[in-house]
Amino acid sequence: MSSPDASVQPGLAGDEPPAGPAPSAPHRPRDVGLRARLERLPGVGSRRGERLARLGLVEVRQALVHFPRDYKDFTGSHTVETLVAGEHGAVAGEVVDIGSRTTVTGKAMVTVLLTTDGGPLRGIWFGMPFIAKRFRVGSRVVLAGVARQSAGCFEMAHPEIRYLDADEKAESSPWLAVYPLAEGVRQSDVRMGVQAALAAVEGQLQETFRPHELEVRSLLPIYDAFRAVHLPASREEIEAGRRRFIYQELYMLQLALRLHRRQAEVTHQAACIDVAADLRSRIEGVFPFPLTQAQRRVAGEILSDMASGTPMQRLLQGDVGSGKTAVAVIALLAAALTGHQAVIMAPTELLARQHVATLERLLAGRELIDTTGQALRGGVTLLIGGQSKAERAAAVARIAAGEARLIVGTQALVASPPRFHRLGLVVIDEQHRFGVVQRARLQQDDCQPHTLVMTATPIPRTVAHAIYGDLDLSTIDEQPPGRQPVQTYRVGPQQLDRWWSFYCRKLREGRRGYVVVPAVEESEAGLASIDSALEELANGPLEAFRLGLIHGRLPPDVKHAIMDDFRRGRLDVIVATSVVEVGIDVPEATLMTILDADRFGLAQLHQLRGRVARGATRGICGAVTAVKEDHPRLEAFVDTTDGFRLAEFDLIQRGPGELVGKKQSGVPPLCLADIIRDAAVAAEAREHAIATLAENPFLEGDDLARLRKLVVRRWGDSLDLGGIG
Ligand code: ADP
Ligand code: MG
Repeated sequence: MSSPDASVQPGLAGDEPPAGPAPSAPHRPRDVGLRARLERLPGVGSRRGERLARLGLVEVRQALVHFPRDYKDFTGSHTVETLVAGEHGAVAGEVVDIGSRTTVTGKAMVTVLLTTDGGPLRGIWFGMPFIAKRFRVGSRVVLAGVARQSAGCFEMAHPEIRYLDADEKAESSPWLAVYPLAEGVRQSDVRMGVQAALAAVEGQLQETFRPHELEVRSLLPIYDAFRAVHLPASREEIEAGRRRFIYQELYMLQLALRLHRRQAEVTHQAACIDVAADLRSRIEGVFPFPLTQAQRRVAGEILSDMASGTPMQRLLQGDVGSGKTAVAVIALLAAALTGHQAVIMAPTELLARQHVATLERLLAGRELIDTTGQALRGGVTLLIGGQSKAERAAAVARIAAGEARLIVGTQALVASPPRFHRLGLVVIDEQHRFGVVQRARLQQDDCQPHTLVMTATPIPRTVAHAIYGDLDLSTIDEQPPGRQPVQTYRVGPQQLDRWWSFYCRKLREGRRGYVVVPAVEESEAGLASIDSALEELANGPLEAFRLGLIHGRLPPDVKHAIMDDFRRGRLDVIVATSVVEVGIDVPEATLMTILDADRFGLAQLHQLRGRVARGATRGICGAVTAVKEDHPRLEAFVDTTDGFRLAEFDLIQRGPGELVGKKQSGVPPLCLADIIRDAAVAAEAREHAIATLAENPFLEGDDLARLRKLVVRRWGDSLDLGGIG
């Protein structure tokens, strides 16, 4: 829960000294305040200051936002007399004896004896011989834990230990903050630095929230919140302090997202893409299937945004296989057929190429006439990282000249955006790899394109709002007709042989399938493990079949060729790492084996299963695991095929970041807040941000000046809030 980088912290980022004491106040040293150097503060000193600097803690403001990563319970009166057997307590004393021995049962046992004001106290540890080295006779410590009486002396088994410096008071906090450290820096250094910092700013911090906001939202005032986080008196105080900072961080993010949006609406005109009924029905006619009710409804929402003249900023979500691509294609064609350029960006080259193939298939042998009476020409233009220089140059030239109307790309597009001729629409597919920030970047054009973001996995509405606070939401809540829920099995070690013979029988009946291997591909060892998995399968259960191997390190064109063979039925099975996870669409593939399924997150499992839920034949999925015990995640996966329900389950379980996959989540970098865990707070912050902006659209005026400054400082660059503040 800490971040060493004070520049991204809420509330204090690069703050100038607060209003507090006037410069003329003669009795205060000049550098007291947020910018005061820690080493100058009483109780810190230059040697401790030097150590703190290793953690990046040089000034008061940095120490304040060096948030604890944990707390230890040191509640108790700190004397032996008040200890009660069976209850938690904490006692300070001096180490007088350290003993190590092996018990009759062969366990290492360490005992440490303290003398304290009220009598002796013993700490005792089993199976941890190294603990002995952490004590020195003559040093002062506090032990905290549940006390019991033993041979006339109080004893604590496996107590928490707090080492006291010579000049450190034992009672400084009943709940002891535990800080992230760096080499050679001690907890006591950080504690004393932070406490000195707190003392230095008491009564001087400027409040970001207005008084009524603190009250209505039950937020601790800024100084109290810092105190509660660093020197809490109770669990409740810790929570209240943390909540204030989490709330503030999410509130500012929501403000920034909405300001970004507002600014785009005000300063940029969007292409007016108005599609008449007959054009719309011609567009819908390119599909070999009738659209579902839900697809038609969300397409309507999107088209009416695009006709409005203000830039669309919409999130489209739907369960895996619900047909988001078709909706995207409608939007793309609407833009292209009204003379605009339309881009769809995919997270991987494999998916980008798939989009090209889909579009080309839909357009093949069809003459689509645009609103100027011309045939849609130029085909589909691909722009990806793996292209040769010449290919890329040709694509870029066609884009600049406006010959390319339908453009498919990957992140390469964002990394160095080409000049567009008349960009009308950007679709971002399978968003959980693109951040808000990247989204902002393709939008820095004179004329703002419409933006449609499509999620990879359904997420509950509250979370969607928290992450994509600036977007309107459309949901496809219906699967195409004839879809049947994938039959899903948990395959334990006992059932493995039976599973493979079942899987092979289905292959012999003519089905195609995947086998997914979890592997850390970045390392050689990871790669070797995929190779050996393939070998094992090829020489074992799958020896009678034609296998293709796909992993992240294969060149994209090789990957594409293998997928193509699979699509055409020249391979029976794709053995893959989770690259098949997102978006691969081969409707004929109906079998899935996920190896070590317990190592995948729920969202990922659901994505994988979605690969075999695309056609009329009922898909079959086996989640193979060596885990024998209950496994709530696997059980949920087997029990339900509804992605929205799984997402909610995941949210309740709160597997750390599983829902959106932390690293690649596209969630903006946050310090204290966790968008999944704190979804409820985020929802409140969002509603608050909307109310604030309704009252004052650009945070103008004196009472919001500080807030405006903080928001711009924190998010201004990444969200391009140049016009505000
Ligand atoms: P996702 O929402 O997971 O991205 P896709 O857009 O890849 O799903 O669609 C999944 C499959 O469903 C594709 O093979 C697609 O052609 C098919 N599909 C989409 N819409 C319909 C529909 N209305 N009727 C029948 N099949 C459809
Ligand atoms: Mg998709």
